[in-house]
Amino acid sequence: MASDEFCEHIRSIHNLKSAARAECEECVKTGDTWVHLRTCQSCGATLCCDSSLNRHASRHAAISGHPVVCSSEPGERWLYCFPDQTMANY
Ligand SMILES: [Zn+2]
Ligand SMILES: [Zn+2]
Ligand SMILES: [Zn+2]
Repeated sequence: MASDEFCEHIRSIHNLKSAARAECEECVKTGDTWVHLRTCQSCGATLCCDSSLNRHASRHAAISGHPVVCSSEPGERWLYCFPDQTMANY
């Protein structure tokens, strides 16, 4: 993952954080449902994707400044940087 085609945020990730639990930690508080899950690579929070009603992952990125998430879906192996709108397969 050391390619120049990826932004500095993605290139700075060496140890991938995976989802501790297969649920959006914000949606479970309010009883909402989600579509897919993403895990923040700065703090490990697992939150719902932009196809979900609450879009907690992108809201978290905007509020906290944590730029990169990975997909938490089985079989999906990619990272996404919100500020650079860059996706990287791994
Ligand atoms: Zn970036
Ligand atoms: Zn959510
Ligand atoms: Zn975070």
